[in-house]
Amino acid sequence: MSAFDSSFGKSSVGESSVNDSAADAVVEHPRPPRREFKARGSFVTRCDHCQLPVLNCLCPYQVKAESHAQVWLLTHPLEHFKPTNTGRLIRDVITTTQVFTWYRVAPDAQLAALLKDPRYVPFVIFPDDQPDYADRVVGIDAVHAAKAQARIPVFIILDGTWRQARRMFRKSAYLDGLPVLPLKSERETRYRLRKPASKAHLCTAEVAIELLRQGGDTVAADVLDDYFEVFNDSYAASRLHHKIDPPTATMQRLAKQRAGDSEPGHPGAHRGA
Ligand SMILES: [Zn+2]
Repeated sequence: MSAFDSSFGKSSVGESSVNDSAADAVVEHPRPPRREFKARGSFVTRCDHCQLPVLNCLCPYQVKAESHAQVWLLTHPLEHFKPTNTGRLIRDVITTTQVFTWYRVAPDAQLAALLKDPRYVPFVIFPDDQPDYADRVVGIDAVHAAKAQARIPVFIILDGTWRQARRMFRKSAYLDGLPVLPLKSERETRYRLRKPASKAHLCTAEVAIELLRQGGDTVAADVLDDYFEVFNDSYAASRLHHKIDPPTATMQRLAKQRAGDSEPGHPGAHRGA
């Protein structure tokens, strides 16, 4: 499996019907579109908090976890309102996660400031298969080195379809000075909500899970993995108007952790087993 295949995935080629010129028109707009994305199933009653159909609300399984590394999502404007977007799962679990809207011309002002902040060591997550930026490519050891220097590694994940992510990488001059970290993983996608071009195309949450795990944040990776699985199962079941009952083993594990987290003095999320 090549890094090219494993790094990105949104694979949502089949679901996105917007062409590039329309995408650019949106990108030039100062804010994301206000309208909701009209995806399949948009007539369904959704939970205000987790955006899932109320039939399989995700809220009882939302567990927080702490990580040393951070994830900053650079989200394509057309991705923001898609209920199948998995980038938001990362923010649900890891509260330090930052979400920025991608603009072609200039970075989000807060992102621009953070990129200059010496506490952070940001990495752009992107495949390493093209020669013109080979001098910027680093391995996961650079993440461990940043931690050893008491700095905070940051995974900047380009959140969009593969095609959008490539445009974001190529057309954002403010990312040009950053090291490029390709994800090396043998994991095959478990994402069921969009048709992947390849099993090696991981969705955004899966990319974060693998990076966190490889970077040593195994507890956060495990919690996010569970939460992603529950999201994936719940959403897929909802499309069939099926309520998952009784809860799966993963649901039960998260619900138990969530109950533990709400007890006074509990140190934080952890695996029950
Ligand atoms: Zn909910």
